[in-house]
Amino acid sequence: MTTTAIQHFINGQVTAGESSNAQDVFNPATGRVTGRVSLASSNDVNTAVEAAQAAFPAWADTPPIRRARVMFKLLELLNVHKDALAEAITKEHGKVFTDAQGEVARGIDIVEFACGIPQLLKGDYTEQVSTGIDNWTMRQPLGVVAGITPFNFPAMVPMWMFPLAIAAGNTFILKPSPLDPSASLLMADLLKQAGLPDGVFNVVQGDKDSVEALLDHPHVKALSFVGSTPIANLIYERGARNGKRIQALGGAKNHMVVMPDAHLDKAVDALIGAAFGSAGERCMAISVAVLVGDVADKVVPALAERAKALKVKDGMQLDAEMGPIVTQQAHQRITGYIEKGVAEGAELVVDGRTFNAASAGDECAEGFWMGGTLFDNVTPEMTIYKEEIFGPVLVCVRVPDIATAIQLINDHEFGNGVSCFTESGTVAREFGRRIQVGMVGINVPIPVPMAWHGFGGWKRSLFGDTHAYGEEGVRFYTKQKSIMQRWSDSIDAGAEFVMPTAK
Ligand code: NAD
Repeated sequence: MTTTAIQHFINGQVTAGESSNAQDVFNPATGRVTGRVSLASSNDVNTAVEAAQAAFPAWADTPPIRRARVMFKLLELLNVHKDALAEAITKEHGKVFTDAQGEVARGIDIVEFACGIPQLLKGDYTEQVSTGIDNWTMRQPLGVVAGITPFNFPAMVPMWMFPLAIAAGNTFILKPSPLDPSASLLMADLLKQAGLPDGVFNVVQGDKDSVEALLDHPHVKALSFVGSTPIANLIYERGARNGKRIQALGGAKNHMVVMPDAHLDKAVDALIGAAFGSAGERCMAISVAVLVGDVADKVVPALAERAKALKVKDGMQLDAEMGPIVTQQAHQRITGYIEKGVAEGAELVVDGRTFNAASAGDECAEGFWMGGTLFDNVTPEMTIYKEEIFGPVLVCVRVPDIATAIQLINDHEFGNGVSCFTESGTVAREFGRRIQVGMVGINVPIPVPMAWHGFGGWKRSLFGDTHAYGEEGVRFYTKQKSIMQRWSDSIDAGAEFVMPTAK
């Protein structure tokens, strides 16, 4: 089988770069190598930053309405090519094709939002702040900004970043995950076709070394990161030390509370989809079911039945509900967590390790397969409760009441997403107010905010103070300037030595 060389995109051209380092890219469904992705050296990063720096002045000077028109054109092209993008994602990430289509659609939402950039950049104006003096504020782009993205959303997470960054007048360097790098080049090609000037959007393929080169480069003014918490923490600290603006979104352990008054069939549907969709490799996946009162005795058997019946198949088969795990290493990590759960005394109700890979489809025997796993009677001190597993493993914790459920969630180190299934308005309201988590769903299992609301967790799920996309995204990629102006008619003669006040 032939493998594809997956390279960088710098200054409007696909390029091999100077480094000969590269790593294999797999189709997780078959376990076969399909490509080799280049890994940039710091010189390759420098070349990309220079291209972006050179493109910045003209792009920043381009009227926002004309920058928006490039976004409108990109939107059109994305809608034409969205299935090609989704197929590329499925073949490198493994998620089922319909889920990959959903990922692309949620990314397109942000491009639509970025089309409104002239309105989003509109400043404030106050006439007559003092006699004859007016004052206004404007937001201007930062310069070269970078985005470091995780494997689990190779199109959507970059689209959380670059549409707004570029529409706001910055130039951008994307450093995607080397596990599924092809989507980044498809998007680069569409941006070029949309008429984006060369150098405004660049892709540097790579690993830790290229990230460190971006973090240390004096011309990179801001960096958005999405990935695991230990790396998010490192990025935040090193970037801040180097004087950069940083938003670093990290890992998660998302809980879903099921109250005794909830519609139980719908709650079970929600848990199954949110725990096992994308094989649990979503930062908003539900990985903990918090079962209140006596609901566990009804919910756990229903979950077990459904987990055993999951259609785990090659993601290109249209009835597939769950695809493979992204890599062999991730498969081993998840298997290790299941072993630990058993060793620490949790009750293993459904064991995904027993899944037969050959049943996933033709040529799947060597793929990175496992079924859905369900644990019951999990307690807060167990490793499978405390740590992010990032795989198709749902753990159930039994609690007596809503107050205990809220305390449990608030005590967890992560605070990305959370959900509560209830028919009580009072419970829903109190839950929404008291929970220490950034994104809350009431009868919504995966409450990913829409493009104009902004995405971000609390606690160790986000380092930095602005969320991704939405108006916070616009603020992150721009800086405010205030201008105060008067004309000679209103200037009194003589030097003023006292603090100026409104006159
Ligand atoms: P990861 O942290 O391993 O990698 C993320 C990015 O950082 C990749 O581009 C990778 O190449 C780079 N990287 C890896 N190690 C590095 C190092 N030592 N120094 C510098 N850069 C490094 O994450 P992943 O496995 O690709 O993605 C899964 C993780 O991302 C999960 O923890 C998940 O919860 C999280 N995630 C969070 C969100 C969110 O919005 N909070 C969204 C998606 C994924």
